Amino acid sequence: MNVDYNAEPLVQVKDLCKYFQVGRHATLKAVDGVTFNIWKGETVGLVGESGCGKSTCGRCLIRLYEPTSGQVLYDGKDITKLNKEEQKEFTRRVQMIFQNPYASLNPRMTVKEIVGEGLKLQGMPNNEIEAKVQELLETVGLNKDHMSRFPHEFSGGQRQRIGIARALSVDPEFIICDEPISALDVSIQAQVLNMLNRLQDELGLTYLFIAHDLSVVKYLSERVVVMYLGTIVETATSEELYANPMHPYTKALLSSIPEADPRRAKASQRIPIKGEIPSPINPKACCRFANRCEFATERCFNEIPQAREMSPGHIVACHLMEQ
Ligand code: SF4
Repeated sequence: MNVDYNAEPLVQVKDLCKYFQVGRHATLKAVDGVTFNIWKGETVGLVGESGCGKSTCGRCLIRLYEPTSGQVLYDGKDITKLNKEEQKEFTRRVQMIFQNPYASLNPRMTVKEIVGEGLKLQGMPNNEIEAKVQELLETVGLNKDHMSRFPHEFSGGQRQRIGIARALSVDPEFIICDEPISALDVSIQAQVLNMLNRLQDELGLTYLFIAHDLSVVKYLSERVVVMYLGTIVETATSEELYANPMHPYTKALLSSIPEADPRRAKASQRIPIKGEIPSPINPKACCRFANRCEFATERCFNEIPQAREMSPGHIVACHLMEQ
């Protein structure tokens, strides 16, 4: 889909913070000063290890969490300042597909009830809901025989399709896909990714695609945002990021992607990331990657690196970029 980067972004995330108080003197800084845009019709991949704050960030964008500070603008409006009518419209326009298709569907509801719930809330008459649910199920590769069944009667891939049909039921324009394939068998993952791609083309959707693995977002995303411990370390177009990664963390993440071609696998060197991701509770004012970075200097342990635009749209937060 063609993306108009001269237009105002559909989603603007500005210095977003989401903190959780976890004790009298302990603050978990899940998202800490995150800034990025999403333009209409594009897919932005939000990538990082588990615990880096990417899902919390996604939940702030759909108002499942209220930000501690900062702003999320949707279509130019601050989503925390919508009136009742605007909030209702926002709830329709922005949907989420969850990571776990086993937990995200009510086991006591039939597929018709699950997919038709949003239609009912939108005021669609009962006699029209059945036909619409059938149409939605066909859109995601299921059929009308599935309508009267319960979630436990389906495989993981089929359940994720039901979750996608539910998200599509209210005719959204922006969908946050929170690791939608990570709980699925590898054999099913490509099918779901291809379907999301097709739906984007057919319905003109915009996606934020959250993943822990750069290889998953490579073929889907126009741009990629790499997060580490609540902060963004690098943002670039997919093409630029994969050809010319600059942040040591992005380089290490990329080097961990298995290479199918044995000659290239031999040539490419794996950069191990030592240690575990540290705790996001009361983090020090320094580079959050410092204790795992092979290039860390004293400065990295004492000063937060500022984001710098190294080339148009390629933004990196690392002291090394000053050299
Ligand atoms: Fe490594 Fe320092 Fe750059 Fe952080 S700022 S990524 S520690 S070189």
